[in-house]
Amino acid sequence: MRKPIVAGNWKMHKTVAEAEELVMMLQKDIEKISSIESVFCVPFTSLFKVSSMLQNSSIGVGVQNIHWEKQGAFTGEISPLMVKEFAKYAIIGHSERRAYFGETDTTVNIRVIAALTNDIVPIMCVGETLYENQKRMTLDVITRQMKIGLQNIGNEFAEKIVIAYEPVWAIGTGLACDPVTANDIIFHAIRTPLKNIFGEKVSQTVRVQYGGSVNGSNARDYFSQPEIDGALVGGASLKPDFIEIIKAAAK
Ligand code: PEP
Repeated sequence: MRKPIVAGNWKMHKTVAEAEELVMMLQKDIEKISSIESVFCVPFTSLFKVSSMLQNSSIGVGVQNIHWEKQGAFTGEISPLMVKEFAKYAIIGHSERRAYFGETDTTVNIRVIAALTNDIVPIMCVGETLYENQKRMTLDVITRQMKIGLQNIGNEFAEKIVIAYEPVWAIGTGLACDPVTANDIIFHAIRTPLKNIFGEKVSQTVRVQYGGSVNGSNARDYFSQPEIDGALVGGASLKPDFIEIIKAAAK
């Protein structure tokens, strides 16, 4: 039985004071729900504040990217060694990083390895663009992202990985992917590659989230699908609606 995991991706939102306010608004209600893993993936600037607030909390703290080196001459970057003092999770390969910041399947792969070897749970994002979807390339694109993103990883690490299936055309658009279709894509393009790379046991242990316009009203439709073990949530994670998504995952 896979424990559901719902993570909020705050993206480039919230000053430290605003982050404090948001945590105070959500914390108590989320902590009442212990049957699922809930995570706030915050901007680096709020990491110290939010991790201090959640030190004794069941809510996990994550970041939205990490560099692959532990240290060095990489101006403006943040290493896994720095992050692990405060956070247990890192989103890696989000489509916005792939689209705007030159992230490739290969850089995703070395960041995933860096996370795992530094005791950080990678939430590796995969998903097709609208063009790829319309050209019926979805399964091929995701299978490729899985294969390259997960290369050179030993089975001893693999079970910790979380995969987020995020159709790019569904992110921040209000156009959520049909839950049955999302489930089918996850089965064919995520579980099957997981099985081919790591074997049956790992493929049944790794948790797979759906992400893309999830909200309090549609969350339950996703969580009732057998291959969907939670959600990666953008816009709705900044609102009280996030609690409704977590409640839906707990049911
Ligand atoms: C995301 O940023 O990963 C995301 C899924 O955003 P939204 O929920 O706003 O579509």
